[in-house]
Amino acid sequence: MKNRLLSKRIQNISFSQTLAMSSKARELKNKGEDIINLSVGEPNFSPPYFVLNAAKKAIDEGYHYYTPVSGYLELREIICKKFYRDNGLKYFPSQIVISTGGKQSIMNVLLSLLDKNDEVIIPSPYWVSYYQMVKLCEATPVIIPTTITNNFKIHKKQLEEAITQKTKLFIFNTPCNPTGSVYSYKELKDLVEILKKHPKVIILSDEIYEHICYSEKHTSIAVFPDIHHRVITLNGLSKAFSMTGWRIGYIGAPEWIARSCDKIQGQMTSCANSIAQRAAISALKASPIEIEYMIKEFKKRRNLVLDMIKEIPGIKTNKPNGAFYIFPKVSDLFGKKFYGRIIHNSEDLSSFLLDKAKVATVSGSSFGNDECLRISYASTEDKIIEAFTRIKKVLN
Ligand code: GLU
Repeated sequence: MKNRLLSKRIQNISFSQTLAMSSKARELKNKGEDIINLSVGEPNFSPPYFVLNAAKKAIDEGYHYYTPVSGYLELREIICKKFYRDNGLKYFPSQIVISTGGKQSIMNVLLSLLDKNDEVIIPSPYWVSYYQMVKLCEATPVIIPTTITNNFKIHKKQLEEAITQKTKLFIFNTPCNPTGSVYSYKELKDLVEILKKHPKVIILSDEIYEHICYSEKHTSIAVFPDIHHRVITLNGLSKAFSMTGWRIGYIGAPEWIARSCDKIQGQMTSCANSIAQRAAISALKASPIEIEYMIKEFKKRRNLVLDMIKEIPGIKTNKPNGAFYIFPKVSDLFGKKFYGRIIHNSEDLSSFLLDKAKVATVSGSSFGNDECLRISYASTEDKIIEAFTRIKKVLN
């Protein structure tokens, strides 16, 4: 009865599986279990000291009040400089909206653009929340599948085939969560060739992992002049600056979309947290060199994970070139019995690993690919070694 009183919209979506798994891990830990949490994508570093100092200073200087809805002008100006410095993109402060995390930025954009039954193209595997947020807007996700053999990247032909009269938005994510795939300039150019032919399709480019790239430098899809005027470039401080709980996300967007996001935000949250915005000014002013030590560490861990995973029978992986996830193919284990339990799918495997190895992961099905499992290596080297040793033991 209770459930039926909820709106159809909310009945139609599920809980975030990344957060659900993480909260399960936390609960078990609190009960005294020795859990290693490789489920959520949350860097284990502290934010840089100059960011922490800026936040303390902001409190002392009295930044306690509402900020402009889209964020402090000073921060929007810094974001414009950052977009130019790191991505070669030109935005004006009137095109920037700062929100309570990348998630709110995305939801603002979706609510701005989507009507019931509009189609939204999402390459799969995708980050869990894109799919659910699109459904929350009563629009229709149109999935482009990819496989591990092509490094989970879509081909321009697939994009072309997915576009219809109803396509409103293309959600694109490089470096990708959950696969760690990074699109090259040439690969982006190929996709842009198709997008050029469809002037009504808007592109939401999630670049939250831009700095976490291990081989070539990240390219923003908005650098291509033919489509720049219809790309929303999304970024935030959670991953690069290890500031997940501070909740600062932002977009650079065509002004008409930015204004709409401002309108929605003005009705929903007023503005992003003032202290976190002051800290964000100091983070984004700094050169990316300041956070290179974290990227180096992630790369070391990526290599460590690749070495250790090779030793585990039934698990195949590609080489992810960015973000801090590995998305191995685990379907060879399906139908097999371990400790008297048959593993039927990625969810079974994830819950088996939690029960028997005490390692929290997220099922691939949550990201649109049941053949795989997502493992985050944004944890310490010791924990990673221990986690993979345990996984190997229970699967042998
Ligand atoms: N984005 C991170 C992840 O995928 C944090 C949790 C979430 O927001 O989904 O694990």
